[in-house]
Amino acid sequence: MTRLLNIVILGATGSIGRQTLDVIDRNPERLRLFGLTEGRRSASRHAEYVIQGQAGEPDFDARVNEMVTDPRCDLVVVAIPGARALAPTMAALEAEKQIALATKEVLVMAGALVMKAAGAGGIRPIDSEHSAIWQCLWGERKESIRRLIITASGGPFWAHPDLDLDQVTVEQALNHPRWSMGPKVTVDSATLMNKGLEVIEAHHLFGVPLNNISVVVHPQSAVHSLVEFVDGSLKAQLGRPDMRLPISIALAFPDRLADAIPPPNLEELGPLEFYPLDETRFPAVRLARRAAHAGGGRPAVLNAANEEAVNAFLAGEIPFSGIIRTVERTLEAFAGGGEDLEGILEADRWSRAYVKETRGILR
Ligand code: MG
Repeated sequence: MTRLLNIVILGATGSIGRQTLDVIDRNPERLRLFGLTEGRRSASRHAEYVIQGQAGEPDFDARVNEMVTDPRCDLVVVAIPGARALAPTMAALEAEKQIALATKEVLVMAGALVMKAAGAGGIRPIDSEHSAIWQCLWGERKESIRRLIITASGGPFWAHPDLDLDQVTVEQALNHPRWSMGPKVTVDSATLMNKGLEVIEAHHLFGVPLNNISVVVHPQSAVHSLVEFVDGSLKAQLGRPDMRLPISIALAFPDRLADAIPPPNLEELGPLEFYPLDETRFPAVRLARRAAHAGGGRPAVLNAANEEAVNAFLAGEIPFSGIIRTVERTLEAFAGGGEDLEGILEADRWSRAYVKETRGILR
């Protein structure tokens, strides 16, 4: 009989948080909700800790810290969006908690520091592509890996090469063809910046060089990602586009939870297509790769500038194509630095302030 796993959810009212609650509810013999944070909406749950508010509020931060370092807590699901997730993740890692990570920004900003703090236990990915790669790598040796291949649905605009990206509306950008997600990651899927961030995320999670990580467009989103090995073997993981599967895998590892989701029906899948990524029309992946190569605070600048630019787009202040232009110009203006955690957080603050100040001229 396995002991009940005491789970904390940071961000229980978001899309990943609610699906995590669903996975816990369906596996009461293994999983127990120990604590959660919720935003303005209530998650309507009883737990040892129910913390309402926003990161940055002193009382909220102190209580979250107490919750994630509580000796009874086993695993922390990090599902608050953006840079705000970094501090509580580091606190949980320092208390030697297992992390199930949905917030890729944590690894984009501070991947080296986070992986070092995680030690041999590593980080369990919830991002569907990284969950797929993780599964492909179970039982494999690192020397056997030649290449990680991250699949991209392409977002709503990839299949419309004649569409003028300057004219795209917020409604069009939020209309993702396959996955139902929050607005930030949905816009990131439309710019392909989501894949840029995922390349950096994979680099840190699996310790594979940036140049050995590719992105391929796969509109059906049935293959969640692949790993190519030195002998020419290619492993893929397939599943329905349902985040409860990667969540179940991250919570139950190394076991698998029975009937987490229905398997894909191969006869109904139809043709599976794979296309190269057009990096001229969608330069986000190249930009992210370059920032990660240059290192220091640059990935944090990329991430923060993107977050602010997406907000500006959602508020109707800049055009869709202005998002990537903003990120590019902010990276160009960055003076450097950001080798330690404080420097990374400073790079993040600088980037946000720069985008806000220059919003008018960065259109
Ligand atoms: Mg993903």
